[in-house]
Amino acid sequence: MNESDDSVVNLNSARNSKYYKDLKEIVESGRCPFCPGGQAFLGSKKHIIYKNRFWMVKCSDYPSENTKYHFIIIPIRHVEKLDELNKDEVVSLHFDILEWFMRIYRISSYILTARSGDPKVTGGSVRHFHYQFLVPEDDKAVTMRFGPPPEGQDFSKEISD
Ligand SMILES: [Zn+2]
Repeated sequence: MNESDDSVVNLNSARNSKYYKDLKEIVESGRCPFCPGGQAFLGSKKHIIYKNRFWMVKCSDYPSENTKYHFIIIPIRHVEKLDELNKDEVVSLHFDILEWFMRIYRISSYILTARSGDPKVTGGSVRHFHYQFLVPEDDKAVTMRFGPPPEGQDFSKEISD
């Protein structure tokens, strides 16, 4: 792998060959996929289901196995770390986004997780900070990987250019 450290995404964090292929296209575009007009919102990608001044919410394009819901909560502003969020964004997350989830989806139990900072450390794929909002299917376990990929994982061999 010879991707530069300042790429908008981390190819090593792909979870499967389709995801790897999509990330490779994003690297080639040179544009952040979560900024306005980014690839996460183009073509066949799922629609934004909620948006306000500070945040947008979309269905995950790569939902984790055994999830009833898997949403991505993305700040409108390009930040890469949790501590870069400002007070208005933090307040809006709690009082707008989470309230909206409870009201619309009637969710009482969920997982809210985020990777902040260097994808090589966190195992994140997109540098633009975001939360994963997950609700497991009834009686099922959801597994997420944090940190580096399993040794020997290389999806570049599985895709043909
Ligand atoms: Zn961005």
